[in-house]
Amino acid sequence: MSEEKGPDDFLVLRVLGEDEDSTVVLAKDIRTNKKYAIKILDKTKVIKNGKWDQVNKEKQIISKLYHPFFVKLEYSFKDDKRLFFVLSYAANGELEWYIQHYHCLSKECVQFYTAELVLALEYLSECDLVHRDLKPANILLSEEMHVQISDFGAAKSTVQESPLNVSPAHDQLENAFVGTAEYVPPEVLIGKASSSSSDLWSLGCIIYQMMVGSTPFYDPNEYHIFHKIIECDYQVPSAMDNDAKDLISKLLVVDSNKRLGSKNLGGFHALKGHPFFANINWKNLPNEMPPAMK
Ligand code: ATP
Repeated sequence: MSEEKGPDDFLVLRVLGEDEDSTVVLAKDIRTNKKYAIKILDKTKVIKNGKWDQVNKEKQIISKLYHPFFVKLEYSFKDDKRLFFVLSYAANGELEWYIQHYHCLSKECVQFYTAELVLALEYLSECDLVHRDLKPANILLSEEMHVQISDFGAAKSTVQESPLNVSPAHDQLENAFVGTAEYVPPEVLIGKASSSSSDLWSLGCIIYQMMVGSTPFYDPNEYHIFHKIIECDYQVPSAMDNDAKDLISKLLVVDSNKRLGSKNLGGFHALKGHPFFANINWKNLPNEMPPAMK
């Protein structure tokens, strides 16, 4: 974050989305004309909904991230009633929209976007952070169609706080179910702490969804989704590409220590070596022209 800014420095162009205590607007800097997404939080509602600590944690986490595949917190300020988080604007919307529009994505697109997500998760794990709500609705796309991961409302540090400071009740709260049913890993459902490998499970669900068009554990009934996740009960269409099938099967593993990419299994180096990524030039990915979305 650089120079001081305030609400009067921006002109709101339109509302991008709203929930109970916040509104995200598209706005432009009056001086430079540069567009931003501004998350505006109503302080009274945030406090009433018991989300004050969560909002501060989210801000703390996002302000630490400096990586091309994450939405960036450019400025933050407040007035009497509101908090403002000025975020880099991901002009091409959510990956979810493209999966729904095209029903599923080409293998080339899936390889490219999965590779960008792998680099993003590698960076998060180097920062000792876990996103915990990774899903196509939180994977935004920049003007140049590169990944911009957003929404750190559920993210947390994987570094243990000093045991002297942590009560069992706090531990339970930290490990409570967060995220979105269809992408949540089994360890979270049984109340265990998340680790970097938890995001790898969600990545497996997202690769499946990009290849097939629906999530692997989908069911209209949330209880059945959870049951399928615990049992790792999913079907792969017989026509699916063999490398994609193999990669998914190595990420959707109930034991988080046995997921490809976990520290025990050679970490991200091993994940990047999977044959599904044979055509990926890892070093140049942020500068490459993404394949046409289809
Ligand atoms: P939640 O998942 O927290 O319930 P949400 O999915 O509606 O909420 P928000 O983070 O509140 O997401 O964002 C509201 C809308 O603004 C969403 O459509 C989201 O894609 C869009 N949005 C959020 N941040 C950005 C950004 N940096 N650039 C472009 N669009 C954004």
